[in-house]
Amino acid sequence: MSAAPTLLIPGFPWPPPVLGEFREIFRVRPKVPLSEWSESNIVLSPEYSNSTGPLMLFGWQRAIFDAITDPSIETVVIMSSTQVVKSLALMCAIAYWICEDPGPILLVEPKKDAARDFSKRRLMPLTRDCTVLHGRISDSVHDGHNTIQSKDFPGGNLLIVSAHTPVDLAQHTIRYLVCDEVDKYDDDVGGSVERQGEGDPIDLAWERAMTFGSRRKRVLACSPTVAGQSRIGKAFALSDQRRPWVPCPRCGAMQVLKFRDRDGYHVKWDSSLARELQAATARYYCVRCDRPWTEQERWSAANHQVEWRQDKPGADPKIAGFWVNHMYVPPTWKTCASIANQFLTAKDDRQSLKTFINTVLAEEWVEEGVAPDKEILYARREGYAFGDTAVVPQRGLFLTAACDVQENPPRLEVEVKAWGRGRENWSMGYWILQAFAENGQELPVSARELWDALDELLYRDWAHESGRTLSILAICIDTGRNPKPVYEFARRPGHHQLHYGPQGIKIIAHRTVVPVKGTADMLRIISGVSKEDAARKRQGVRIVSIGTNCVKAEVFDLLRHARPTVDGSPSPGCFHFPLYEMVYFEGLTCEVKIVKSNGDVVYEKRGPRNEPVDLAVYNRGAAAIVGIDRMNEEHWRRFEKAVEPVGGPPVPPPAPAPAPAAPAPRAAAPPITILPGGRGGFRRD
Ligand SMILES: [Zn+2]
Repeated sequence: MSAAPTLLIPGFPWPPPVLGEFREIFRVRPKVPLSEWSESNIVLSPEYSNSTGPLMLFGWQRAIFDAITDPSIETVVIMSSTQVVKSLALMCAIAYWICEDPGPILLVEPKKDAARDFSKRRLMPLTRDCTVLHGRISDSVHDGHNTIQSKDFPGGNLLIVSAHTPVDLAQHTIRYLVCDEVDKYDDDVGGSVERQGEGDPIDLAWERAMTFGSRRKRVLACSPTVAGQSRIGKAFALSDQRRPWVPCPRCGAMQVLKFRDRDGYHVKWDSSLARELQAATARYYCVRCDRPWTEQERWSAANHQVEWRQDKPGADPKIAGFWVNHMYVPPTWKTCASIANQFLTAKDDRQSLKTFINTVLAEEWVEEGVAPDKEILYARREGYAFGDTAVVPQRGLFLTAACDVQENPPRLEVEVKAWGRGRENWSMGYWILQAFAENGQELPVSARELWDALDELLYRDWAHESGRTLSILAICIDTGRNPKPVYEFARRPGHHQLHYGPQGIKIIAHRTVVPVKGTADMLRIISGVSKEDAARKRQGVRIVSIGTNCVKAEVFDLLRHARPTVDGSPSPGCFHFPLYEMVYFEGLTCEVKIVKSNGDVVYEKRGPRNEPVDLAVYNRGAAAIVGIDRMNEEHWRRFEKAVEPVGGPPVPPPAPAPAPAAPAPRAAAPPITILPGGRGGFRRD
């Protein structure tokens, strides 16, 4: 029963009984734009909205809604702050299509959880509270035509899938494609450590809409992420780039409301006051006359006077792009003062600042993914104890390690790191492990002795400034060129492996051994885990892929911007280094970021050795696996409690440990030497 809205029926209008009979077959009602339809039919539910009852759109929201039902537009791109328009527009569009212009709809969410969540927390309340949907979708989830993620309705069906499942994306013919949170999708759907996947999930799904020709429609929505990598940013760049302009109540100058731009801050506050008093003085200032607006004036302009203007009027007219930020919401939701307060809270921590810029300002984050000068890093080294006599500083709360397997000469390079709140971290030692036969010949990386030496490092108790000790929580080992000995090491009795459950990966024991592999993923630190069937061939060892491009961008950005403080107070994101030799810093800074013409980012090695970069990347991966990006106050408190200074006089620093002891020679094993014999600092022979 596909809709034919402009069908001319001879003799129309028919007398009432006939019309009644055919009403559901021939839809002759003129179409109303989505904004008008939504305000007449949508009732907001408490499950997803603060204000409940009939929907009232903000003035600026109408143009976005109406683009969705505009027959001349095929793709609508919404790049906005969180919680200002995206989900509402998607829900209203779906409801409209179900009632007014039915056809097969595919809604893609980044993950399976999100797909279920959308169905349960948004769609089910919507069908319950909007009478227009009654009788069209059953709210029962087990009536044969409906499950949580699949709903039939007269003339079509709605399927809610995760972007991770290629089969769901490519199986069905669709007319409407709704892609939510697109920056969280995989680059290569269904791809894994072992094999290439089926390509971009949006392209994959959109191909299924070909049969509907010009009647197909898609909506892409997300807040932006990192410039050059953000999928919504790229989609917006291809659109006509509409931005909401409003007039100044003082001078009439039209402008886009921005927190700051190239000319400086447009939300300003009195920075001479104490920090906690500053934000309350924040106001928006006109870009031309520089006079402040009241909150009421800002909201009145945003609600009633928005004029959407295209930044790129020559773009493909079938692609409409909309951008909007938190400066366009009512003062009851957010004021300039609360935005300024969020900024002041976030500004000293690169990670928080990034989140603020993406989700509040709806702007892409420009990562300065260029390594800083080695001299600068060398000059800021600190005098804490490291290597075999390492003492973890008080703010270091858990330990990770990273290991790289290298040939020529055969060796393992290992770095141990302490991590604290705000991802502040301390390099605690860097070891190059080599093993030699009696005749002085190097033993290959498969030699058990090398791995015994790694085991010795892994099982150490590490002195902490509090007088207590810490053990390493997780070690990431690169499986790159020489995977076999890594698998064997991971399977050694007593070594723990990651726990894999429905919630993802989890550390359940100290000294968890994680074989890893680098991928080019630019968006995620942990970009995948090898499949169970592939792992079976390796006797159950699974490989975690680490998005090296993503981590490098973060690491280099933090190396440039987060510096140790003069008074030793916390510095979120700061990398602390002990008195390593220059060769370490040469290795850490030897890669150059190259942005290719298609926007792809690659890192090129400009020095002989880059192991320190790889180990920084894998240690960051280990911290992510431990869960540093999800830890809350309670987690941190628990870590801090574990290193509360022990009572009594301060504990003297532990006596310098002897050189890492060679494991007791076993029968037939050649005697070995472990380098370096000294302090366990960085050196290269
Ligand atoms: Zn003005």
